[in-house]
Amino acid sequence: MDHFAYRDGVMHAEDVALPAIAEAVGTPVYVYSTATFRRHAQVFRDALKGAGRVHLAYAIKANPNVAVLRVLADEGYGADVVSAGEMQRALAAGIPASDIVFSGVGKTRRELAQALDAGIGQFNLELEEEGEVLAALAHARRERAPAVLRVNPDVDAGTHAKISTGRKENKFGVAIDQAVAMFDRLSKHDGLDLRGVAIHIGSQLADLAPLEAAYARIGELVAELRAAGHTISRVDLGGGLGVPYKPNDVLPSPADYGAMVARATADWDVELMFEPGRVIAGNAGVLLTEVIWVKPGVVNPYVIVDAAMNDLARVAMYDAYHDFVAVAPSGERMMANIAGPVCETGDTFAMGRDIDAVKSGDLGIFRTAGAYGATMASTYNSRALVPEVLVDGDRFAVVADRIHPETILAAERVPEWLKR
Ligand SMILES: *Cc1c(COP(=O)(O)O)cnc(C)c1O
Repeated sequence: MDHFAYRDGVMHAEDVALPAIAEAVGTPVYVYSTATFRRHAQVFRDALKGAGRVHLAYAIKANPNVAVLRVLADEGYGADVVSAGEMQRALAAGIPASDIVFSGVGKTRRELAQALDAGIGQFNLELEEEGEVLAALAHARRERAPAVLRVNPDVDAGTHAKISTGRKENKFGVAIDQAVAMFDRLSKHDGLDLRGVAIHIGSQLADLAPLEAAYARIGELVAELRAAGHTISRVDLGGGLGVPYKPNDVLPSPADYGAMVARATADWDVELMFEPGRVIAGNAGVLLTEVIWVKPGVVNPYVIVDAAMNDLARVAMYDAYHDFVAVAPSGERMMANIAGPVCETGDTFAMGRDIDAVKSGDLGIFRTAGAYGATMASTYNSRALVPEVLVDGDRFAVVADRIHPETILAAERVPEWLKR
């Protein structure tokens, strides 16, 4: 459920009419709903009430805007970060260091040191050597780094190949059949407080079965580790729950997920960590855009909008579907292709789709753009970096400026020898 709805024929974000935002900020622009973020945060938390001791670390790569992080910090969420930059954002938003989990397959030595200095709550180790380096860094500080070992359970999450992370050929985690031996060796380091294991098998999961299979393997691993004499106090079950992108998509609800988790983990006796990203942010944002032209095409007309693949990369990257609706629909329909201005054929949001009839100057939105939207934006084709607006009831604020091409250009230099 989200708080983007028509009132008197005009799409609103909560109590704000979207044309007011387009007028004030221009387009394209991401628009987020505070009430939707809060609701998703609460629904996910409530869904896990039956799962015992639970920690929630929002995967901030889904939407790392500092205002969004502040809302989620208010809701009691910690953060799952994958770079020092994300860690800085989480800290800037007021998330306590102890509630930050550092994931990521390529943490640099410098990042590990920065995270130790910040005092973050959990390092998710991706390989043995990383554990050795972290142990040495912590030992030199007379500390013990809190850590878990990320394992790769070798299950196919059944999602798009580019967001599948739990098959053995994927780059993430250590092979599950090597985990016990590795745990034995790493747990001998004074600088490590190795507490358990982590998994994350992929994103936009539309079926709970692969997750349940992965959790079952983790349950067996926990038993093996305990049999080998290790104290296992924590298991990180990652993120990955999908969201509906199409009007008729049916996905497992957070409640379905929570019931599965409670069942799968009933006898584990550990603290559970969750890293939800998309399920919190996906439906909490839309990309507001203006139609530049309706260009006649051979089969269908091309609706050329002022948002492009550099603003919303998911369609070009993952063949993703984003629902498009007019902000003030006339009731007429049209068959159309929807594309942006970027000079790539991949800059096409839809082909041959039945949409609200639109004409030059009309506003429209791509729905479900709150996750993996603005955060993946670039300035390709020397376009501006897309701004972000947060709505809360009847007020809104720009929470990320539009970065104009002049600003980007100002950071580039012509070397002395090319000057004239
Ligand atoms: C991306 C990621 C997540 C969040 O995934 P969602 O599908 O957005 O829930 C959680 N944990 C890790 C380690 C990730 O890489």
